[in-house]
Formats: sequence, C-alpha cells, structure tokens
Amino acid sequence: GDELLETRDLQVYFPIQKGLFRRTVGYVRAVDGVSLSIPRGKTVALVGESGCGKTTAGKGILQLLKPTGGSVCFEGTDLTVLRGEALRKRRSEFQIIFQDPFSSMNPRMNIGDIIEEGMIAQGIGGDATQRRRRTDKLLDQVGLRPEHRSRYPHQFSGGQRQRICIARALAVDPKLIVCDEPTSALDVSVQAQILNLLKDLQSELGFSYLFITHDLSVVSYLADRVAVMYLGRIVEEGSVSDVLDNAQHPYTQALLSAVPTLDKDTQREIIRLEGDLPSPANPPAGCHFHPRCPQAFDACRESYPPVVQLSEGHTARCHLLVGPEE
Ligand code: SF4
Repeated sequence: GDELLETRDLQVYFPIQKGLFRRTVGYVRAVDGVSLSIPRGKTVALVGESGCGKTTAGKGILQLLKPTGGSVCFEGTDLTVLRGEALRKRRSEFQIIFQDPFSSMNPRMNIGDIIEEGMIAQGIGGDATQRRRRTDKLLDQVGLRPEHRSRYPHQFSGGQRQRICIARALAVDPKLIVCDEPTSALDVSVQAQILNLLKDLQSELGFSYLFITHDLSVVSYLADRVAVMYLGRIVEEGSVSDVLDNAQHPYTQALLSAVPTLDKDTQREIIRLEGDLPSPANPPAGCHFHPRCPQAFDACRESYPPVVQLSEGHTARCHLLVGPEE
C-alpha cells in the first residue's frame, strides 16, 4: 500500500538505575518491538490500557523520545538516525496533539503567537502579514474567530483550547498528526465536536492520524486500522472491521466486552480481567498476558506467541491461533 510511515521493531527502553553510582540494573521495556504502518491519508488507532506503552510509542515515532532500537521510516527516511538540524527541518511534517492542551501552551503568549510560533521556527507562511492571514484562516477552519488571536489560553474553554492546538498543528502543513487521547479530558458533548472536527479536517486536507486512545467507541468512529497494544507489544492489528467485529486475541476480546452496547441482542458477555497490568520492568514470562488471560494454557507460560496471519492485513499474537504444525 501507500505507506506514509513504517516502524520496524521499534524499541523504547528506559534504564532502571540503582545505588550511589546509578548502576543500570535492568530496563523498562515500554515499547518492545513495535512494527506498524500508517497509510497516507488514513487513521491508525493505537489502543490499550494506560501503561501499555502507546504514548511512549507515539513519542518514539515522533522522535520526542529517542528510540533505543528499530527504525521509523517516514517517506523513505529513517527518522531515528536524524539528529539536530536535520531532524528539526523535518519536524513540521509530523505534529502532536496532547490530551491536556493547556499544559502545552505558554500562558503568556496570545493565541495568534502560539499558532505562528511553529510557522516562524520552520520558515513557513511568508511574511508577517501573510502569516496573520494564514492564522485567521486556521482559526476559522477549527471553528474559532479571527478576533480570538489576541486572547490568552486561560480565556478559553477546554474544547476551544483543543481547537487552538489543532490550528497550531495544522499551521505547519503536517503529513502526520499524532493525537494522544485528544478528547479524553473533555465533556462528552465537546468530545464529539472535536472528533467531528478532526475527521472533517482530514477529509479536507488529506493528512494521516496516529490516534492514541483507550476508548474503542472513538476508534470505530474515526479509524481505518487498529493496533492493540499490551505491555509494549502489538497483540492484534487489522482493519477496524477485522479488529472490532472479528477480534481474535483474548485481550482484544476482553477490551471489547467492556464497551457498553445499546442494542440488547448484541450485548456481549463481559470478560473480567484478573489483576492489573503487570510492570513492563518485569513482564511475565511467555505471553505477557497469560496471568490475566481466561484462555491461557501451558504453551502461554513458556514462550511469547509468534505473529499469526489471520487474513489479508489481519494479524494477532496468540498461541490459540497458531495452526497445527505441518
Ligand atoms: Fe491467552 Fe495464551 Fe493467547 Fe496469551 S497466548 S493471549 S495467554 S491464550
């Protein structure tokens, strides 16, 4: 397919240091071998519980955290080998929108300056008059008004602040926007408005999203493809219909069973997961999910399951899905 970005075996490890001399005694394997493709103009959702490594994976892809292994191929360039100026030049092509827009804004800068900051840094948008015109257009595109440019972040609601962050991301013409739980701090009614806005902007402008979320209802609304992450690894990946309507991995099935449905006939039996997400510093042997998996058997405690191809573009990692040996 026409891939914008492809990660291969991406790893982001954090050293665990102990004692006076900060000796490294182990690693937290927050992202442990993630291979993921993001097609042009499409939305890939990365889902999982908090602590599964999805935010770290997003930051590793954008080089906000330097990966400790693997590659991130963006339009033919491996971003992990770029440093300094070479990386800075490419930054406009991939932007991020965070869960809490307030924390990513300088409270002493007005909205116009916040939106123009990236344009100036990247040398985009022409002279001051052209930049100003561009900012007015961006404010309009995200549902705000040109006169908002001279106000400060604290004068806006949470939803409006998220609109400002979206305008700031769009200002540099990105090809990819990583959205990290962009609506989970907002009221439900505002959430829907922001999701609609994100969707409309994509169909208008044609960029790709990597959408990081724990909310599967958001995924079905917005995404084309879904990758389910558990303890640093992708355990199931496929199109939205493959993963949401035909989930094969016991962890995906458990996540889905927790989503309430309005229709009584399709009510799923809730699969309760025992215990909490284990620490990525000390993952369980074998399949990392085995201590919580209702279907675990002997093989699960011994080895990590291989990637099993279930159908074209649908994969999962589970011993139950491995066919009989030839
Ligand atoms: Fe459950 Fe075993 Fe499959 Fe892991 S490999 S998800 S423990 S059945």
